[in-house]
Amino acid sequence: VRLLDGKPIAHAIRQKVQQQAVAYREAGIIPTLAIVIATTDAQAAWYVRSICKAAEACDINALVIELSSDAKTDVIAAELGSLANDPTIHGILLQTPLPDGVVIDDLLSLIPSEKDIDGASPASAGQLLYGLPAFAPATAEAVLKILEYYEVPLPGRRAVVVGRSRIVGKPVAHLLLERDATVTICHSRSRDLGEHTRTADILVVAAGKIGLIQHGDVKSGAVVVDVGTNVTEDNKLVGDVAADVAEIADLTPVPGGVGPVTTSLILQHTLISVDKLTK
Ligand code: NDP
Repeated sequence: VRLLDGKPIAHAIRQKVQQQAVAYREAGIIPTLAIVIATTDAQAAWYVRSICKAAEACDINALVIELSSDAKTDVIAAELGSLANDPTIHGILLQTPLPDGVVIDDLLSLIPSEKDIDGASPASAGQLLYGLPAFAPATAEAVLKILEYYEVPLPGRRAVVVGRSRIVGKPVAHLLLERDATVTICHSRSRDLGEHTRTADILVVAAGKIGLIQHGDVKSGAVVVDVGTNVTEDNKLVGDVAADVAEIADLTPVPGGVGPVTTSLILQHTLISVDKLTK
């Protein structure tokens, strides 16, 4: 069994990103990513800080636009609209959670596809589903990058995804399907979760529930990607998969698995946007 470390993958992506970012700066273009945040949620703040840190290390400019945690839809919409039209901005992230009463669907369409570096808008999701060029949600792509790096074969193999959110579960399932895996999606209404997960050659868990997947829920020799990030009472970051699963299966660590690859892909997508927008 192997520890599926995300750090070497993140490192390789960031090295390339930094070289490209420096080249753009020499050509007078400052690759810039804008993050709109309107929450005091600690985990969201932690995520935004980690993106900013990684951006800085890669010579990408990260512009954090902090709005009040009771900002109304029109204020956030106006901000997104001006970022969409600003030629110095190459990527836009809208951080969740949003203030109470703000409906995310009223906002995501305001992010133009070419700046939608986390594949969050309905247009990007549709393009992706149709196999047309679009950014995939970075977390979903990170799962596939990890499987690719550790040479996990996918065609014809049984993949089970736990979670069906727009930003993780569904796009992961789609990307696995595109690579010819046979995919099952489980969710909170699935009966006998373990019965499904035990069939998996590849198990991707993105539920946000500590200890959801236990030793007995995993087939020996399986490959398990733990997307979950949960903060424990003593302020530790843990995934959804019990640690002893690593005794029988290849497992991504939390932290240090999907997370660093995700942030690196956000930066890589920003540079792809720079390329498209400055041509
Ligand atoms: P959501 O809360 O949007 O979705 C969770 C999904 O898990 C839902 O589809 C839900 O089912 C399902 N679920 C919840 N409980 C169970 C259960 N007991 N059994 C089976 N399925 C269950 O979360 P996200 O998709 O946004 O994120 C998932 C996790 O990944 C979180 O821990 C999040 O913090 C983490 N994450 C990590 C990232 C990284 O870079 N490492 C990035 C993004 C997210 P239903 O639809 O029926 O409610």
